[in-house]
Amino acid sequence: MRRATPEPSKHSPSPCIPVEIDSSCINRNALRVISKLHDAGYEAYLVGGGVRDLLLGHSPKDFDIATNAHPEEVRKLFDNSRIIGRRFRIVHVYGSKGLVEVATFRAAGRAHVNQKGRIIADNTYGSIDEDAFRRDFTANALYYDPDEARLLDLVGGLQDLDARMLRVIGEPDLRFREDPARMLRAVRLSVKLDFQVEKQAEESIYRLGHLLSEVHPARLFDEIVKLFYTGFAVRTFDALREFGLFQHLFPMTEKELCGRSGETFSALVYTALQRTDERIRTGKHVTPSFLYAVFLWGPLRALVRQLELDGLSHKVAHAAAVENTVISQMRFTSIPKRLQHPMREIWDLQFRFYRKYGNSAFRLYRHPRFRAAYDFLCLRAAAGEPVDRLCEWWTTFQEADLPTKRKMTNARRGRPRKSQRGSAKRTYH
Ligand code: ATP
Ligand code: MG
Repeated sequence: MRRATPEPSKHSPSPCIPVEIDSSCINRNALRVISKLHDAGYEAYLVGGGVRDLLLGHSPKDFDIATNAHPEEVRKLFDNSRIIGRRFRIVHVYGSKGLVEVATFRAAGRAHVNQKGRIIADNTYGSIDEDAFRRDFTANALYYDPDEARLLDLVGGLQDLDARMLRVIGEPDLRFREDPARMLRAVRLSVKLDFQVEKQAEESIYRLGHLLSEVHPARLFDEIVKLFYTGFAVRTFDALREFGLFQHLFPMTEKELCGRSGETFSALVYTALQRTDERIRTGKHVTPSFLYAVFLWGPLRALVRQLELDGLSHKVAHAAAVENTVISQMRFTSIPKRLQHPMREIWDLQFRFYRKYGNSAFRLYRHPRFRAAYDFLCLRAAAGEPVDRLCEWWTTFQEADLPTKRKMTNARRGRPRKSQRGSAKRTYH
């Protein structure tokens, strides 16, 4: 990107800066949508993270378009489109190169807020100037017109972008109260972009982090996926804890990280986060169920221990602790059903890894969740839990040919007697 000397816009008093952005870096569908809106007489710009990332030389994750056309007007222009959302209505326009989101300019300060200052609906349309001021950070409020190759900077975003500064538009306390999830966005973007969170916003986050408890758990789940699945999981985890936000997302995890087995648990969490980052870098499949299984493993084990002390058998304690841990966590962040099942299976299979004899081993090996559960077992071993020999056995078993596998599972020598293979042997701690 090359930036020429700023010159005032003919249409607006705001700074309008000619820039050269290679249009081949912009999604073709987004370019087509903008041109068509222009042809129909509307204003239309690329905005948000797409522009920010292009200016920083990164490849944007998605392209958002802002326009003065109302959702119904946009919908009429594009056959392949549909209006979505209730609290915040936008239009999805589909094309061969993917989906672009088209949002009508919103009026800052005219959104519907509840008694606590929280935004409950934001469908009041306004001018581009108003739209810029309702966005979260200055670097996210740059508007780019690809037809004219001009950038509109209404909030000093370009300067902050150059200074690698994440600055809240307006009063941080007020903006975080309006939407506490913006605090998570601040952490996520500062890590992803390697930006500094501006001092006043940083102090606000320390003070207002507790407001995350008022964000809908389903929204927090979506934010968590973005926080840990964009390739910076380790740094994001550290930043969330530094800003004091992690404790409001995973309070039970935070407690165990600081507790008696904190060191081993912390090693497990870090190893899992490092591997998540590696897998994303190498294009491998990742799933939040695995990370949830890791984050909640410490609390789960602590509860199993407690219930066993209360006299329950390991099996019963495990089942009760799983239920309790999942339900307790869901008071903070939701865990969709489709993820709960694999997460529970990963935990349950930890217990079954001890059954290495006869058909049990083969049945477990064929289990659809075997691989994830085995990876989890190896993580536990790497983190210093006393399961390294078990992990080695299963590694050897997988690599062995069928006759050797049979031999391993039938091996009488060294096989514990029935009485020793009872529930105590099968505990995972
Ligand atoms: P990413 O690279 O992760 O997509 P992004 O900044 O583009 O980051 P989006 O969720 O795609 O994030 O949002 C697009 C734009 O919408 C943002 O850049 C910002 O201008 C605006 N925005 C998103 N969420 C909020 C929010 N909670 N409050 C105010 N503005 C927001
Ligand atoms: Mg985006």
